[in-house]
Amino acid sequence: MFSKILIANRGEVAVRIIRACKEMGIISVAVYSEADKESIHISMADECVCVGGALSKDSYLNQQAIITAAQLHGCEAIHPGYGFLAENAQFANLCKENGIVFIGPPAELIAQMGDKDAARRMMQKADVPVVPGSDLIESYEAAVQEAARIGYPILIKAKAGGGGRGIRLVESEDELENAFLTATAEAKSAFGDGSVYMEKYLSPVKHIEVQVLADEYGNVLALGERECSIQLKNQKILEESPSTAIDAALREKLFSYAIKAVKAVKYTNAGTIEFLLDTENNIYFMEMNTRLQVEHPVTEMITGIDIVKWQIRIAAGVALSYKQSDIRIGGCAIECRINASSMQAEGTGKGIEFFHVPGGPAVRFDTFLYQGYKIVPFYDSLLGKVIVYAKTREEAIRKMQAALCELVIEGVETNIVQQTDILSEEAFKTGQYYTNFMENRG
Ligand code: ADP
Ligand code: ADP
Ligand code: MG
Repeated sequence: MFSKILIANRGEVAVRIIRACKEMGIISVAVYSEADKESIHISMADECVCVGGALSKDSYLNQQAIITAAQLHGCEAIHPGYGFLAENAQFANLCKENGIVFIGPPAELIAQMGDKDAARRMMQKADVPVVPGSDLIESYEAAVQEAARIGYPILIKAKAGGGGRGIRLVESEDELENAFLTATAEAKSAFGDGSVYMEKYLSPVKHIEVQVLADEYGNVLALGERECSIQLKNQKILEESPSTAIDAALREKLFSYAIKAVKAVKYTNAGTIEFLLDTENNIYFMEMNTRLQVEHPVTEMITGIDIVKWQIRIAAGVALSYKQSDIRIGGCAIECRINASSMQAEGTGKGIEFFHVPGGPAVRFDTFLYQGYKIVPFYDSLLGKVIVYAKTREEAIRKMQAALCELVIEGVETNIVQQTDILSEEAFKTGQYYTNFMENRG
């Protein structure tokens, strides 16, 4: 096992990983930017290093500075968290070249799955159904042809897209030229690669994903599904497990696709296969995220398995100590992401004036906030996540309502009220909701 790990991230996920290190008896080294000097992950870690300026490109994306920090502090491994360098194949390679273990899958797999178009083709080859769509689109003329073949409405997606960005809905051919040109230009500026492809836009549809763990010895576990259909601008805001739309037979099919996908590409470490589920129970592969997911605690609550610890163990060459038949999925877990409503407004140096955290049995609050902390505007708007677990879904919903009621964050505007409202909507309560849930409620 490693004795010292560097955490190449900030915010709640850095806190989460440092906690895992402490419980495993591993020394943790935090990195931070000049804007994050007052961040709590620095004081929680055993050691810390400033790796550059406030802008991500100067610090949390500064590959060389992070490698140097790991070397100077004698770290054997780097945990990238999510976002930043987590899906950067070049960084995973750089770690390897410097004799440092990247806690995640091999660089080649990150590259293969990060290319969403190539990932689709690999899944088709592995007999996993994908959303009807096209290969990469090279010209506007090709776009017209492919869109007509697939049938409107369609989505234009960036091959290198992620985080809900680089997706554009096209309802008819009139909108296609403009959409194709702007999508290509945006993909180029956001991801450094203007390549795009198309998918049939499915609606109504549910976003269902499967958490997997795979070790170096060919053992693969599907740790249940997560339903992530409550989204704003294609970004998840509330997740739950299990999904109300899935019965035992459908779950078996879903897991078989996920395991097939993992085995076909010889994936290792933690990963998530994202699928769309239509109202006729057709399942379509959408993409694979080769990293820890924001909503991983939902799965931890229903399985009792610590995903971050297993990421570290797998990277250290430990074999999974569970078989699929050992995985007992029970009860229901819900996560509400707590976001700052406007980062620009919040980043003006206003601090958290009052802070009260919910508690009680099976209530978890993963955050990096503390009273007096001043939010910095340079990074993403996630402030924390409330996760609850209960025997039944009804109880979990009530527990979440109580937890959100207890949670007080003063000094910054948040989405706590919006989350509370979602929980009381009829469509949410019945589980009959789709990715258009937020639009439909106006
Ligand atoms: P998850 O897929 O884990 O549910 P998100 O899609 O919200 O979570 O993305 C996780 C984090 O990573 C977010 O902070 C998001 O902004 C960031 N992120 C994900 N993919 C990319 C990307 N390709 N480029 C930049 N940031 C990304
Ligand atoms: P990202 O890499 O940004 O996470 P995804 O391909 O996972 O992008 O898509 C993000 C979200 O966009 C999905 O969760 C879903 O809500 C919506 N979406 C993606 N593809 C489709 C599709 N073909 N039809 C309908 N909705 C889709
Ligand atoms: Mg996705």
